[in-house]
Amino acid sequence: MDYRYDHILIRYGELSLKGKNRQNFIRKLSEKLKKALKPFSTLEFETQYDRMYIYLHDEDVDAVSEVVSKVFGISSFSPAIKTEPNMDAVLEAVKNSVDLSTPHTFKIRARRHDKMFPIDSDQINRMAATAILKNSDWKVDVHNPDVTILIEVRQDAVYIMADKIPGAGGFPVGVGGRAMVLLSGGIDSPVASYLMMKRGVHIECVHFAAPPYTSAEARDKVFKLARLIAPYQGDLIVHVVPFTTLQLAIYQNAPESYAITLMRRMMMRIAHGLAEKRHCLAIATGESVGQVASQTLESMYTINAVTSMPIIRPVVCMDKNEIISIARKINTYETSILPFEDCCTIFTPKSPVTKPKLEKCLAYETRWDWQTMVNDCIEQAESIRLSFKEEKNEEDEDLF
Ligand code: ATP
Ligand code: MG
Repeated sequence: MDYRYDHILIRYGELSLKGKNRQNFIRKLSEKLKKALKPFSTLEFETQYDRMYIYLHDEDVDAVSEVVSKVFGISSFSPAIKTEPNMDAVLEAVKNSVDLSTPHTFKIRARRHDKMFPIDSDQINRMAATAILKNSDWKVDVHNPDVTILIEVRQDAVYIMADKIPGAGGFPVGVGGRAMVLLSGGIDSPVASYLMMKRGVHIECVHFAAPPYTSAEARDKVFKLARLIAPYQGDLIVHVVPFTTLQLAIYQNAPESYAITLMRRMMMRIAHGLAEKRHCLAIATGESVGQVASQTLESMYTINAVTSMPIIRPVVCMDKNEIISIARKINTYETSILPFEDCCTIFTPKSPVTKPKLEKCLAYETRWDWQTMVNDCIEQAESIRLSFKEEKNEEDEDLF
């Protein structure tokens, strides 16, 4: 990649959006980009109806691109050279946009957004190709070029680009409201978190820990996962719920086969309470139909009954392989497969019921005052914000 790039041109995703939705989308995207790029203090931003431009000044194009690639709402972006809208300047920039000393095949694709520009696209293509052919050993290949040089002619400027990098897609985080995600140390829930954020939902996470049955390593693993997904939305709050007392009460008051179902009902009640406290309108999990005994439709039916809040399960119909391929893409897989036990695995009964009955759950739940314990869990949750400081180091900071 060349050193002379002075801009990054950003193309929005979801271009079908119109009117107010579109304005919201662009405003949120601009806000998210600026926040994510705050460590690069000399950047300048220009937002237009169908494009955003970042003026790089002194910043490194690769480092900025790395951050841009994680911001949702961008379909693609390109490092660019901005020139005056005249052909001499454009041809000079075209020669500078690539490294002409190593031969490649290429094609030029010019687009005239400003039809008042006196030279049409075909002519621009020819002139730019000639400038490269004259100054190098490069060869034209219109069908399968190594490099496609894009020339975008706008009213006030022309942008020359040699690369189109895929963006993260989706919607800017925040346009879709807020949700509470149940984050375990497994493979599925970090992927579910990522998919929620990708749809524009701002998430907070809740993790249930049962010390001393669960280790400090297990907790660290969850935080490591949370840090890996946090950059997609900027910062991330994780609520760690002390679950031991409630979990032991379940084992004292109900048969082992119902423990998982009852435990999940309690998790949902606590998640609901935290969600209300934090102004979230939905709960999300990494459940997938049929994956384990407790993830049947009967089980989901019985667990859902404790809350009127929508429960979103982004990976519900995915195969494990599909989930794993996303986990690899977002770099959480290697951490997820570390062997530390979470509270579910430790208390897992030998034969959990696969078709739990709601009436039975209700009957077991008359045996003790779980409501107080649920309230305690909500009260005593430790809330930690993972944020990114200006010098790009993560910082953990207790919230309340
Ligand atoms: P994962 O890979 O996400 O752990 P899993 O296949 O291990 O999923 P389960 O352990 O049955 O499945 O959990 C299903 C979902 O319940 C998880 O995806 C997560 O959303 C939630 N969950 C389970 N255990 C916890 C926990 N200790 N803290 C928070 N959420 C949890
Ligand atoms: Mg799990």
